[in-house]
Amino acid sequence: MNKPFRIAMLGKQGAGKGTQCSRISEQFQIPHVSTGDMLRSAVKAGTEFGLRASEFMERGDLVPDEVIIGAVVERLSQDDAVNSGYLLDGFPRTLAQAKALDSAIDQAVKLVINLEVATDVVLERLSSRRVCEGCGRTYSVSNPPTSPWHCDTCGGDVVQRADDKPEAISRRLALYDELTSPLIGWYSEKGILVTVEGSGDLDIVTSNIVKAIHSVEA
Ligand code: AMP
Repeated sequence: MNKPFRIAMLGKQGAGKGTQCSRISEQFQIPHVSTGDMLRSAVKAGTEFGLRASEFMERGDLVPDEVIIGAVVERLSQDDAVNSGYLLDGFPRTLAQAKALDSAIDQAVKLVINLEVATDVVLERLSSRRVCEGCGRTYSVSNPPTSPWHCDTCGGDVVQRADDKPEAISRRLALYDELTSPLIGWYSEKGILVTVEGSGDLDIVTSNIVKAIHSVEA
């Protein structure tokens, strides 16, 4: 792929999108645009956008399309995304979002990676995931910080996200099946979807994503 790199990553919650996107963003110097991170910072900062989103997020529901689309369009209009492209993590999640991304003039997505992981694996990962409230670093019950439960990087409290609790997890996975998985067929018909198996070794998954990026000609 030539610059600007314009990539979106699809995958169930817990598939490893965040980890893989951080690696790819660093390697290719593309802005990592995670809608979940944008929303969580807005909630923490108490902005109006955050206040509108928080009740949906806590239940494991999707934030309404018009709220999230506006925020993403604004983010993608910033210089770094216009010049270098973007690596979208957690967006699009509905057909309306995918259509909005398509109509973002001159910024249409060139490659969609479907990071595929079996549901029983993501369930196990999500229920054991713990996250630093300060810097967002991720741990798990089997891989805790050195001093439980304070982050090794920033000393912040490491907690379970409200939306990683069992009721919210089932809701989020059901919504993924209903609203997000149809995008796999939609992008596949456009000929820009590559599926990468996401349950194996992290480095192998990364190298398969890198191969997919290199396979795109334009
Ligand atoms: P994530 O960290 O990507 O799982 O996102 C956490 C939560 O933020 C989701 O459960 C939704 O409530 C909300 N969210 C993130 N991205 C989107 C999106 N593209 N559309 C709607 N809601 C979103």
